[in-house]
Amino acid sequence: MRYALLSDIHGNLEALAAVLADCRDRVDALLCLGDVVGYGADPAACVQLVGERCQAVVAGNHEAAVTGRLDLAWFNPYARVAAEWTRRQLSATERAWLAALPLVLTVGEATLAHASPAAPEAWDYLVGPEDGFAALGALSTPWGFVGHSHLPRAWLTGPGRRDWMPQPGELVLEPGCRCIVNVGSVGQPRDGDPRAAYAIWDPEARRIVVRRVPYDVAAARRKIVEAGLPRFLADRLVEGR
Ligand code: ZN
Repeated sequence: MRYALLSDIHGNLEALAAVLADCRDRVDALLCLGDVVGYGADPAACVQLVGERCQAVVAGNHEAAVTGRLDLAWFNPYARVAAEWTRRQLSATERAWLAALPLVLTVGEATLAHASPAAPEAWDYLVGPEDGFAALGALSTPWGFVGHSHLPRAWLTGPGRRDWMPQPGELVLEPGCRCIVNVGSVGQPRDGDPRAAYAIWDPEARRIVVRRVPYDVAAARRKIVEAGLPRFLADRLVEGR
């Protein structure tokens, strides 16, 4: 059984479609780490696709925002405008589906959470070395998969090991080791690479690989502008920032 791990799709249908096409023949099931909506111009279509295709989905802070579980005052002005716009694009059924998503799930030997699995409701970002090593202490499974920062990262601990990988490609988890992997963002990468990011996890081979997939950035960008959303949200897709 191999899994695709998708996070931070953010209403970017072009990026999501490209990732779904890329992983179709490579995996048996899909898991989603949250922030399906927010920022992008196609939140409803992304909710539909994720609902149909993903075996397990956890909520991100943008789900919490559009369903009223998180005060919008917590957001920066761009995110707030996008959250209010997104809320209006979703049907009552779609909002109810998002509202029912759990913050943490366990799939096999992996814990799924959008933010730090140590306290998912606090929405803490895992970016630097210490963030991830601290969160690893709270993990009860060998694998932890997260999103939220839109930056692919990996933290690995084990006998004589304490590795922080700011640009993880392929990672093999030896017995006795544990790791947290941020799989990057499908719909709004922020590591300077505009291509969509997602990961493929093979539990039997104890391996995870972060992949990058080109998509029609120009189309996604144009739709954000045409929707009247902040232009910054459109332009950042081009640079992956
Ligand atoms: Zn996000």
